[in-house]
Amino acid sequence: MATTLKLPDDYFGDDFSAPTPEKVAPVEPEAPILIPATWTKETIYRPTAWEAWVHMPPKLAWADMAALRQWGSRSDHGQVYTRAYAHEMVREGDWQQVAAPVLPAIDAATAERIGLRKIECPICHGVSTLYALHRGTTTGLEIMLPSRACICRGLRSIWRYWGDDKVVPVRFRQTNLKTLKPSDLSILAPARQQEIISTLQARPADSYHLYGEPGTGKTHMMSALYRHALYAWATQEMRQCDCVQAVWRCRTTTLLQEHIAWDTRGDDNPNNVNPPTVTVRGVQAAKAAGYRPCLFLDELDKCKATEFQVARLAELVDEVYAQEGQVVATSNKDFDSLCGKWGDDEAGTILRRIGAGPGAHSVEFAG
Ligand SMILES: [Zn+2]
Repeated sequence: MATTLKLPDDYFGDDFSAPTPEKVAPVEPEAPILIPATWTKETIYRPTAWEAWVHMPPKLAWADMAALRQWGSRSDHGQVYTRAYAHEMVREGDWQQVAAPVLPAIDAATAERIGLRKIECPICHGVSTLYALHRGTTTGLEIMLPSRACICRGLRSIWRYWGDDKVVPVRFRQTNLKTLKPSDLSILAPARQQEIISTLQARPADSYHLYGEPGTGKTHMMSALYRHALYAWATQEMRQCDCVQAVWRCRTTTLLQEHIAWDTRGDDNPNNVNPPTVTVRGVQAAKAAGYRPCLFLDELDKCKATEFQVARLAELVDEVYAQEGQVVATSNKDFDSLCGKWGDDEAGTILRRIGAGPGAHSVEFAG
């Protein structure tokens, strides 16, 4: 009885290298490919097939299988099968995966180039799908069928945001929560920095209000949390392949400007205005697709204290909270100053969601 092998869900490393060798299910690269003795090169492939290697199992996508059913003899990859062999493949109703896809380990630098689309993925050669050996339980035939999305899909998802220097400043690109250490560039005492790092590492999925003077390392710490959330989302998105965004990071003022422009765009020329990066509907869509919405807000206190801006901010934060998501915000001002600036009601709502209550913390960058 053939067993279906599965790869662990987190098989690419959170240093964005991929995949880590110890996480790849062991495969036997030299395992013999079994094709029933009745089938030979001549009986499998038509004479015109250029890729007629009897030791290489036919590689079919499900679409090819449909083509075989219809036409009986062709697939892509230039392989052309005999009618008899194609008939057997179509007859087979139960393909069991018998080996994990072969995944060469690649280092973090290569993973970055793949993610940024600077090179073609050396694992799947650009098709974004990994094939694995399957065996037909009825016919005993062995063919390659799609097994799962290639890791490059996850890498491209991550680097689309992580590699955008308007989202993550270049100097924080190597930031990783697991290896985070106190920095010489912060004006905060190393001991206090380590205390904060330990808090974040212990509960990386919680909500945080990170506040304190400029230069204390708030953005650095938030980048580490952002990366953690981005990685979790991309890993899930790679399995679901549904292109639903669920992790957002933006400057608070930029986000609210986008909302103002969108709300006042008018009917005559609506195409000049892009929808805001984060909307209530977007947060709901992420949750509906099974993701945990995560909102990262830079410079929360730079939000203008107009009624519209504070109300819209409260609405977004509230929605993420209602969908059991994560909100992390940086700010130069503490709770009391923000309440003074924005008015108790609205500021109180926002800040209690982010920095108080279960799963939410206010962290002062001082001392
Ligand atoms: Zn790939």
